Amino acid sequence: MNNLIAKYGVYFPVQILRRQSPWKFAAEIVEQQHLPAAVLATLRDAKLKSLIGHAAQNSPYYRKLFAQDNISPGKINGCDDLNRIPVLSKKTILDCEREMIVPGFLGKTFQRKTGGSTGMTLHFSKEADALAKNDAIMYRCYDWYGIDIGDRQARFWGVPVVPKLRRKEAFKDFILNRIRISAFDISKESCLEQYKRIKKFKPAYFYGYTTAIYGFCSWMKELGIDLNQLHLKAVICTAEKMCPHHKILFDQVFSCPVVDEYGSTENGIIAFQCRQGNMHLMADHLIVEFLDENDVPVKPGQVGRIVITDLSSYAMPMIRYDIGDMGSPSERTCSCGVTLPLMEIMEGRKEDFIRTKSGKLIHAAYLCYTLKDDSVHEFKMYQTAIDSVRVQIVKSPSFGPGSEEILNRNLRTSLGEEMKISFEYLERIPREKSGKLRYFVSGIRAGGQPQP
Ligand SMILES: [Zn+2]
Repeated sequence: MNNLIAKYGVYFPVQILRRQSPWKFAAEIVEQQHLPAAVLATLRDAKLKSLIGHAAQNSPYYRKLFAQDNISPGKINGCDDLNRIPVLSKKTILDCEREMIVPGFLGKTFQRKTGGSTGMTLHFSKEADALAKNDAIMYRCYDWYGIDIGDRQARFWGVPVVPKLRRKEAFKDFILNRIRISAFDISKESCLEQYKRIKKFKPAYFYGYTTAIYGFCSWMKELGIDLNQLHLKAVICTAEKMCPHHKILFDQVFSCPVVDEYGSTENGIIAFQCRQGNMHLMADHLIVEFLDENDVPVKPGQVGRIVITDLSSYAMPMIRYDIGDMGSPSERTCSCGVTLPLMEIMEGRKEDFIRTKSGKLIHAAYLCYTLKDDSVHEFKMYQTAIDSVRVQIVKSPSFGPGSEEILNRNLRTSLGEEMKISFEYLERIPREKSGKLRYFVSGIRAGGQPQP
């Protein structure tokens, strides 16, 4: 579909019918990305004060919480006072979802649910304006790369198995002028088929799971297909951390920018990479805290739990929501013209740590450095016990007789001699229900006990 028809003939009318009009907020949201720090701080404080007042008065859950913990909403004057309110866990949302919703919004909200890759599916309600603001924020970021509403997108994503859901997604793809490349089938044959489809569709940009785009690109490279003939404006990678080996290949196959997006179903875009390579936080829309295990903010450069307050969500206020990701705040500033503060690249989820008998915690990103070499096309590791891991490998053509020994040796440098390492060779590694490739799965709890 022509991008202008997609924008004005389809997207705009559909959003009007859904009462979600991102353009209502677009001018203000675009302006906010250039505010001086002090003005931004005042704006955030005012938005927070208004949200807290609203939650205290109208949400049964917060009314009870504030009374129980003796929190006076009037004493919360801004972000500096936010720590008076306890952190909101996923478990609490699971238990108190109904009471969190403001009764006045009942029946007027849109339902969303998280993917549940951590074993917990959360349901939450968003009003039309909150969703419209999420979209306005998204298009503000895409505009950094000249991508407009209605521009054609090739989306590397999961495809629902249930026919009804598949039809719903196909309709959404049509409205949003995009084609879907299944993240479930990244084989050589299907990638070649998908490439022909993509070439005919002429997308302005790629969007999707890092591992799916990576898998596609590695086959294109092997087939000698030049992806630059697609003249993409950008490639936006999301949902999975971009590892060094991803970056190396992307630099080889794309001459356009390849950008990291950090977002969630709950909050939309949380941080987005600018042309200078920095991750700008959507700080006019969200308060993002980085906390240690005692809920105290960590220092710039240190890794903490990411805790989010969505300043635009009034139907189901979520104040200080522990999203389950880890990241670092940054004191650096950026010269790109966007004044929104920076975070360092996301570190992954709390569950993403390999544990050893000696008590060592190793971030799973380590596997990208040790298991990903030219001989390995894809990998996945399961920790089955405190002293045992199983590694699944999809060999690449250069996998030779000595390759397993090299991988084994590389792993041992950090996992230690006491770790039993077994290898399993597959044709392909099955994806999660969402289509993501989770390259590390821990089967043990923090204390070293097997999970049920
Ligand atoms: Zn920047």
